[in-house]
Amino acid sequence: MTATEIQVQTIAHWSAGADFAGTSGETAPITNPATGAVTGRVALAGVEDTRAVIASATAAFPAWRDTSLAKRTTILFAFRELLNARKGELAAIITAEHGKVASDALAEVSRGQEVVEFACGINHLLKGGMTENASTRVDVSSIRQALGPVAIISPFNFPAMVPMWFFPIAIAAGNTVVVKPSEKDPSATLWIARLWAEAGLPAGVFNVVNGDKTAVDELLVNPAIKAVSFVGSTPIAKYVYETGTAHGKRVQALGGAKNHAVILPDADLDLAADSLVNAGFGAAGERCMALSVAVAVGDIADELVGKVAERARSLRTGDGAGAVDMGPLITRAHADRVCSYIDAGEEAGATVVVDGRTVTPQGRSADAVADGFFVGPTVLDNVTDEMSVYTDEIFGPVLSVVRVPSYDAALALINANPYGNGTAIFTADGGAARRFQNEVEVGMVGINVPIPVPTAYFSFGGWKSSLFGDTHAHGTEGVHFFTRGKVITTRWQDPGQRGIDLGFPQND
Ligand code: NAD
Repeated sequence: MTATEIQVQTIAHWSAGADFAGTSGETAPITNPATGAVTGRVALAGVEDTRAVIASATAAFPAWRDTSLAKRTTILFAFRELLNARKGELAAIITAEHGKVASDALAEVSRGQEVVEFACGINHLLKGGMTENASTRVDVSSIRQALGPVAIISPFNFPAMVPMWFFPIAIAAGNTVVVKPSEKDPSATLWIARLWAEAGLPAGVFNVVNGDKTAVDELLVNPAIKAVSFVGSTPIAKYVYETGTAHGKRVQALGGAKNHAVILPDADLDLAADSLVNAGFGAAGERCMALSVAVAVGDIADELVGKVAERARSLRTGDGAGAVDMGPLITRAHADRVCSYIDAGEEAGATVVVDGRTVTPQGRSADAVADGFFVGPTVLDNVTDEMSVYTDEIFGPVLSVVRVPSYDAALALINANPYGNGTAIFTADGGAARRFQNEVEVGMVGINVPIPVPTAYFSFGGWKSSLFGDTHAHGTEGVHFFTRGKVITTRWQDPGQRGIDLGFPQND
């Protein structure tokens, strides 16, 4: 047993600055996807446990809201320094529970850290506005204030980065937080909770409730929770949005994706092939910004597919803790589901150019494959828009190639798709790229960039079924989401204004 496995054996909640076992008695197994071994169990909160954690956030709110910005940012800077110094520990926890390769886990932490760094500048971002003499001797000022306890509900695929899209800004703005991590890989959030305590964050400002639908439902209906940031699959995102808003909360619910890359005939095909392989198979395709559809325009498809296939075949699949390019999928059930999509695509007439259903992980004999949840890189050609490999989010290492005759056909395909998270175009023609960025109905666009995840001071978010709500994550949109506006109109010493006047006040 490794040191990391010892750390994750019993995973409780985190409430009022300490481990909290809860009373439900329910637990779920945590598995290392590279070996199939159960490495721990996570507590599943009941309603009473969830209420206890919410009560911790509620009790801590008034004092944290009234803590000066100078003191709050001192703690944020301390958290950033600790995270930067020790992020290797967090990355190892991610690899052990999620399966992604070590370098990818470290990159995820670094991208989350960008949001911490952005939130360190909250003083400037929370500055209000003031107008002197808006009316005669009347001044008007605006401020933004914290909401209260807020909930963050996150998916399995970015156990550190996705919660970090939200909590640094929420906390910096004076809110208290309850994070509900994915029950498949909760240890990263618990590690972060301890780091906050080390950085000097008062008890109760950052809390963790582990669990499933029971915990989520209580967060959605409990009146103490003022806002919900959710990231996960589209059906759950829609449910969270509808339930949370019906209970008077502001909700941003980021959902699933089906990201297309358009390759125009004038593109650098080697760059496009590298990009498709990196963005299609990185993290075994378990990224909401993974490219899962390559839209080959005109007569380049044969050459493009050849280049992609050659690269895909060279990838090393295996335990993410070792020297490999691609790790396993999150569960056995998910790996089986991905393979069943490949089967369905083949039956529907797609050409299986590279087949990951039979991969042998690096350093293992073929009969030890069953010990981990591995599916190798898979390339399907001649995919059409009726096939389930095209219509559904597979969330695995499967790249589908759709052949179209023109730019217009490529654009129509993307705009007709219900998802709108990310997309990319590969071309040497600036005019075509500019037209695409203007016309495509997708929230994040890459031009010769395959995974256009915005930096922390811009916002992250998709369109259509990829996001419910009207505010994207982080950047100034994040600051707006976690604060509410107040406008103060002030007049001092103006005897001329006295007297009875029932008319509606006018500015003069
Ligand atoms: P998921 O929807 O199964 O789970 C997300 C969260 O919701 C988890 O915390 C889970 O415990 C909870 N949950 C699950 N079922 C629930 C239910 N019935 N009621 C209430 N809560 C429930 O998603 P996942 O499998 O963990 O993550 C993968 C999905 O997340 C993919 O669809 C992916 O595209 C999406 N994702 C989107 C983004 C984005 O930015 N748009 C980012 C990362 C992941």
